[in-house]
Amino acid sequence: MSVLENHRLRDYLDHCVALYTKEFNRSTQDLPPPFDLGLSTVGSPVFEKQPGQDAEGTKILLAPIDDEAWGREWPLRSQAGHEVFHWLFTPPAVYPGIYHWAHEMLANEMSLLCVRKSGIEDAEDYARSMEIGFRAKVQETTRVKMLTTELHRDDGATYAWVFGRAFSVGRQLRDAVGWEHLKGLATSLEDERRPDLRGWLAALPRPLELRAINILGQPHPNWV
Ligand SMILES: [Zn+2]
Repeated sequence: MSVLENHRLRDYLDHCVALYTKEFNRSTQDLPPPFDLGLSTVGSPVFEKQPGQDAEGTKILLAPIDDEAWGREWPLRSQAGHEVFHWLFTPPAVYPGIYHWAHEMLANEMSLLCVRKSGIEDAEDYARSMEIGFRAKVQETTRVKMLTTELHRDDGATYAWVFGRAFSVGRQLRDAVGWEHLKGLATSLEDERRPDLRGWLAALPRPLELRAINILGQPHPNWV
């Protein structure tokens, strides 16, 4: 059976979409047109979207990578949980331009939540192994470099170098402001284009804003 005919994977994607819908208070009518599922040929998952407001033709291409410890199915599920974030939140106006560390961080947190809420045997062990993996990558970039570097999608390129630092900063922010406020980073956008970290901070209740500034530093014009 090919990877894409694997009904368990389809079921898992349905589970992800349902969980995103609930976490972000969407109704089924608010969702973008359904995505097509395919296989990536570049060794990493790819999210493809037609430019413009019409999200018809969106594709999620998963990379069939065999993990030494976990085999193939869990890595496919974790990629799926991440890419569903882009289907829902990557602004159509910027595609294929700018991605953002905060969106990568939330895509990974939502993927972790999709794993944990899946009810599949070993889910908690796999989620912990994902977290260990993110923590192991934290030194791949600094907080300041992450906050000031635009992520552009180029063919074959990956922004996985921000995943570790984004996870670390994201967890600190979650502890400081709470998950409900952290999720606001998904929809805080400048003119419907790039994610707006400064706007998100300014919209927090003042005590939480101060806690978040303790983690991020003072808002700076060089922030992407
Ligand atoms: Zn991503």
